[in-house]
Amino acid sequence: MAGTVLLIEDEESIGALVRAYLERDGYRVAWARSGEEGLAELSRRPVRLVVLDIGLPGIDGFEVCARIRATSRLPVIMLTARDEEADRVAGLEVGADDYVRKPFSPRELMARVKAVLRRTEALPGEAPLAVGDVILHPAEHEVEVAGAPVELTAREFDLLAYLMASPGVVRSRETLLERVWGMDYPGGTRTVDVHVAQVRKKLGHPGFIRTVRGAGYKVARS
Ligand code: CA
Repeated sequence: MAGTVLLIEDEESIGALVRAYLERDGYRVAWARSGEEGLAELSRRPVRLVVLDIGLPGIDGFEVCARIRATSRLPVIMLTARDEEADRVAGLEVGADDYVRKPFSPRELMARVKAVLRRTEALPGEAPLAVGDVILHPAEHEVEVAGAPVELTAREFDLLAYLMASPGVVRSRETLLERVWGMDYPGGTRTVDVHVAQVRKKLGHPGFIRTVRGAGYKVARS
């Protein structure tokens, strides 16, 4: 069962098209025409992913995304109409997992839906991950090193969680970008290097995430 996608879109023609494609791929679709209606829908049924338009009557998509993020990590793909909207989503100010720029092809959107689900659901479950003296608690979104809490951003946390889920396995920059970011950044794989450097610094363990020359990064087995 592919599960339910919550579609929040006020334009009938776009909404009908997106719904048809989602249903064709086996998803059940709950279609809300406003942000308020969409948020109400979320409290009514389990939803696997949200496709969220930015321009909506009442509260806009940015606000809807912020409210979803205040309580959950439910995957969100945003539909943007203008460059400035796309920039805000790409800048991750709102915590969306990915975005698609209008006009988009339904095929492109469906590819994004699959990629986001693959990436977000590949992240570890609720059980803590421990490697050496680093312990990561997915449910609480907390990391501790030798018993002391370490503050990571959401993206840094996901990156570390992904690497810690498979100690000893080398992940290429491209794989990390796809699995942890799920979209093409202007900075490309350089983004990964910057985040790895940040995580190393915050953990205070320069060697915890190892660079494997020509291959990528790994967390050493403890
Ligand atoms: Ca709209």
